[in-house]
Amino acid sequence: SESWPHGDGLTYKELQAILQETPIAGKIEEWSKYYTAGPHLAGANFSQVLWTQEKWKEFGVDDTTIATYDVYINYPLDHRLALLKKKGADDYDIAFEATLEEDVLEEDSTSGLPDRVPTFHGYSATGNVTAPFVYANFGTYEDYQDLIDAGISVEGKIVIVKYGGLFRGLKVKRAQDLGAVGVIIYSDPQEDGDVTELNGYEAYPAGPARNPSAVQRGSVQFLSVAPGDPTTPGYASKPGVDRQSPEHSIPTIPSLPISYTEALPLLKALNGHGPKASEFNKYWQGGGLAHKGVEYNIGPTPDDIVINLYNQQDYVTTPLWNVIGVIKGTIPDEVVILGNHRDAWVAGGAGDPNSGSAALNEVVRSFGEALKTGWKPLRTIVFASWDGEEYGLVGSTEWVEENLPWLTVANAVYINVDAAATGPSLSVSASPLLNKAFYEITSIVQSPNQTIKGQTVRDTWDGRISSLGSGSDYTAFQEFAGVPSVSFGFSGGKSDPVYHYHSNYDSFDWMRRFGDPGWHYHVTTAKLFSLLGAYFSEKPILGFNATDYATHLQQYVDHIRPHADKLPEQTHFSFGPLERSISHLHAAAVDFDAYAADLGSQLSEDVPWYHWWKKLQLFYKIRGVNTKYKNFERKYLYEDGLDGRSWFKHVVFAPGLWTGYAGATYPGLVESLDAGNVTNAVRWSEIIQERIHEATKLLE
Ligand code: GLU
Ligand code: CA
Ligand code: ZN
Ligand code: ZN
Repeated sequence: SESWPHGDGLTYKELQAILQETPIAGKIEEWSKYYTAGPHLAGANFSQVLWTQEKWKEFGVDDTTIATYDVYINYPLDHRLALLKKKGADDYDIAFEATLEEDVLEEDSTSGLPDRVPTFHGYSATGNVTAPFVYANFGTYEDYQDLIDAGISVEGKIVIVKYGGLFRGLKVKRAQDLGAVGVIIYSDPQEDGDVTELNGYEAYPAGPARNPSAVQRGSVQFLSVAPGDPTTPGYASKPGVDRQSPEHSIPTIPSLPISYTEALPLLKALNGHGPKASEFNKYWQGGGLAHKGVEYNIGPTPDDIVINLYNQQDYVTTPLWNVIGVIKGTIPDEVVILGNHRDAWVAGGAGDPNSGSAALNEVVRSFGEALKTGWKPLRTIVFASWDGEEYGLVGSTEWVEENLPWLTVANAVYINVDAAATGPSLSVSASPLLNKAFYEITSIVQSPNQTIKGQTVRDTWDGRISSLGSGSDYTAFQEFAGVPSVSFGFSGGKSDPVYHYHSNYDSFDWMRRFGDPGWHYHVTTAKLFSLLGAYFSEKPILGFNATDYATHLQQYVDHIRPHADKLPEQTHFSFGPLERSISHLHAAAVDFDAYAADLGSQLSEDVPWYHWWKKLQLFYKIRGVNTKYKNFERKYLYEDGLDGRSWFKHVVFAPGLWTGYAGATYPGLVESLDAGNVTNAVRWSEIIQERIHEATKLLE
């Protein structure tokens, strides 16, 4: 079998067997129980840091340390949301006073903890505003544009939007850009699909539908501008460093998240004011509260119907902690990193992130079992338990910024798991370099969702792999450092139990009853996670495929082509030069992958010991191939970064400027085309061609 002669230890097959057999439901449940027992906000979870470090050492990863950063974040102090009817200058009737609390449920043991986390937004601004309000649908860029086109101004108003679609911080950003004074984001049951009280299911805790008091906390950082500590873009938040003003990437207007129950009186107060959403266009249709008397009028409300939104945040510069475990490999400068965040918005966080954290612990324990046999990995493996993901990928971003020189030389791949098990369907985003690896690994792990005995994860998965955008800890690796990354997890669709994302009900009790009864998806995640790690750490030829990358580069061109159609008549933009550079790359990639595969098969030939020099030559060649594979993704980094958001260096992958979560491909080019700026589009086409040319030269 393919394996380097690296001392004693295990064959790849034997290692795989350990990684398949070690993770078990009983341990997952134990880790889940531990992590979800109490609040563990960023920078406020030190006991969990020490515990994680202790466990990993106990599992056999002695080299486990804590990486500390001093970061700028907020903790909630006070808030108020009320609907007021104005009678005189300073004279109001209170029509509705929101509790801003989720119900305490007897069946959900952490929902009533005395120190439970209040409902608030990470990186929201302190403020106290009273104003009429406007309903802005999902708060997409286009939704706000539709308001402008209809002559409805949000200036000086409070905006109320539903969760869903784009990253919440961008809903706030656009409102702020347009002069709004505050934003309210609520969880509309429209987003819940079939499993709502609307079609017979009872709400949690009686059943799997959304609890009407559930609130989605979450960060309102402008993550498509830059993640990480907003006061240290591009460099690590170590004590004593220079701090920038954070306002380029966090809001200056206050915002609050609320439940649909508490949104009802506000939405009803809009009835009869301004046009109805349904009169706009197809994107404004629907809304899950129509049966409760909401007509989804846009407003604005008259001057005497106002909301008071008060948000008081404590902004501090405070330590947060990543736990970093290292297993040294025989080759020190080809490093495989596996990461998951630990901080959660709520005491539970059983799905986000601690289904991933429980799985990661089983991964570390599995590799620990392998270490006990005397095994040593071929390449160095690093495990990371990130802090501060929720506020804006803070722990991982600061760590990448600090370790950039080393990562640039040594980091071959980053594998991310966040919310790992909140439903039955696998979703995957990756650099196309890693697609092949992911298909192979899902083909050797049994599916937890079999309709026919023996089905693998690959068999029960649609096989779709998306491009990487943002919203989890791969961002700094992929888009800042140029490290090919993959992120995956199991989540629910519209007919599965509602996932109470960032709510108190993302709890151990919910997980055990509805999310992953039996912990099968957790266990499966642990296996995929570790086997993928081993695939990259153990195979003599790094498990990349450059041809897939080139093929996808062409697909992305086809995908963005319509953006050029919107250019003014007289102007002309051609994708020809870009496509030609991609086809050169494709040819080089096909040859290179074939050459690499051939070296791999030579390695498995039985060469007699007295031909050791032949082996040595072969090792040199393999080393050369791996170095090129390792550096391939880096070639797509552009020093100056994207226009207006220079932290993002990758010319192919970035979060969409106005989506945040969903990825944009060729962002610089697309944004120029959208702006109708042909000169800049040509400039970006040339920048991208230059990067592709460098990648081609590397492979040739
Ligand atoms: N996973 C977090 C969220 O979606 C990420 C926050 C961020 O990237 O700013 O809220
Ligand atoms: Ca920083
Ligand atoms: Zn998460
Ligand atoms: Zn989250």
